[in-house]
Amino acid sequence: MKAWAVANQKGGVGKTTTAITLAGLLTGRGQRVLLVDLDPHGSLTAYFRFDPESIEPGVYQLFQTSPEQLPELLDRAIRPTSVDGLYVLPASTAMATLDRQLGARAGMGRILAQALATLGSRFDGILIDCPPTLGVLMVNALGACDQLIIPVQTEFLAIKGLERMLRTLDMIARARKEPLPYLVVPTLFDARTHAAREALEQLRSQYAAHLWSGVIPVDTQLREASRKGLPLPMLTRSARSVVAYASLLDCLLGEAPAAVPAVQSA
Ligand code: ADP
Ligand code: MG
Repeated sequence: MKAWAVANQKGGVGKTTTAITLAGLLTGRGQRVLLVDLDPHGSLTAYFRFDPESIEPGVYQLFQTSPEQLPELLDRAIRPTSVDGLYVLPASTAMATLDRQLGARAGMGRILAQALATLGSRFDGILIDCPPTLGVLMVNALGACDQLIIPVQTEFLAIKGLERMLRTLDMIARARKEPLPYLVVPTLFDARTHAAREALEQLRSQYAAHLWSGVIPVDTQLREASRKGLPLPMLTRSARSVVAYASLLDCLLGEAPAAVPAVQSA
């Protein structure tokens, strides 16, 4: 079982889309996949037609229970989706209060790691969608994953956000026993705009060692998929974002060379 967290303190950079699309691709390859929604806004949860206002139990309740009850609660919290082999551990809006409730309490940074450890081999892959804020939930995500995926929108301001995310990572990584590998993924790339090409060049010159060699292009079909409540790979394999995410997945699984393909125009 491999767990990835998808995080960036900037909103709207494609975190949730990345988690859902990669999960859809893994499921399509016959793997059993769990999507964990750690964002109190619950966009991933709502994507699969669960209501973050009312769903119970979910991530929130994992933080309110005793270690002995964690496995049983987790079992009830994990819901099947309409996609065979794809499951969701949902978020609820109540999670927004967790920082105030637990912020200073010791041991709260490893609740998710402890919970996921009780799953044994039930899932082949886990994707954790993070909130855009640094707090107890983000700390839990980074403590529970093997690798971090950082989607970065290919525009100047987003690169500033990346610097902030990397400082956070550095801070949290010190609490881990081993460093957390991470991969920066350029998203929402529009090759027709000069700004996007320039941002990509900047990423390549500053973050080469941790930068995925490809890009996730702007793709309106992703919106269509969200309207249907399905990961886009469940609807089409030929959409350009699906092709790009498939190659990202190969890279994450160590099955693709890290060569840098040329930036194509349009
Ligand atoms: P985040 O989770 O970082 O806030 P989302 O994944 O929710 O970001 O994406 C923000 C918006 O951008 C959503 O409406 C989503 O459908 C859209 N989006 C994300 N990635 C792409 C893409 N590659 N092409 C077009 N739209 C995208
Ligand atoms: Mg999101």
